[in-house]
Amino acid sequence: MTESTSRSRTSLSSLVLVLFVVAVVLALAGATTTVLGVGAPWSSGRGSTVGEGATEQRTAAEPGASGTARPGEGEADGLDPELLRRFEEARAAAAAEGVELRVTSGWRSAAEQQELVERALERYGSVEETHRWVLPPESSEHVAGAAIDVGPTEGAYWLQQHGARFGLCQTYANEVWHYEAAAEPGGTCPPQHADASHGW
Ligand SMILES: [Zn+2]
Repeated sequence: MTESTSRSRTSLSSLVLVLFVVAVVLALAGATTTVLGVGAPWSSGRGSTVGEGATEQRTAAEPGASGTARPGEGEADGLDPELLRRFEEARAAAAAEGVELRVTSGWRSAAEQQELVERALERYGSVEETHRWVLPPESSEHVAGAAIDVGPTEGAYWLQQHGARFGLCQTYANEVWHYEAAAEPGGTCPPQHADASHGW
């Protein structure tokens, strides 16, 4: 009787422990999902890691990796095919040199872009500073499918050096991770905007 009671107490403790662990895991998963859904390319603006944070995690899947092209799933979706083709060429060339290159944020819906604007306002607490880092949905190249953010840091710097060969150009001086198909492959990239504030 005593032994049985003791055993059932032990089982109960184990069960409680298991439930606790499950709760923690679920909480973490929930937090991750929240972060992943939002994305904040500018979060890396002051750090050492380009494209760090939400958007990078969200795009662990490689561009074009998703066989079923449903909007919002996989970075290839919604992107200009020519931009994507150029990126794939650049990625292969980088890989041949041992440098990883991946899309950390590609196409965004207008709603997602608006969310980024609001997050930036909270983050910077200043309209002026926000406008340097994020564009409104109506002028965002991401919403138009005409821009990609790339990472990791080493890959972004590789593309800064070699992008023009593939017709991929960094278009904002303050965003080493942001690229558009802004030149003919092998051509010369246009002068960069200092930041995004011209688009407001
Ligand atoms: Zn961008």
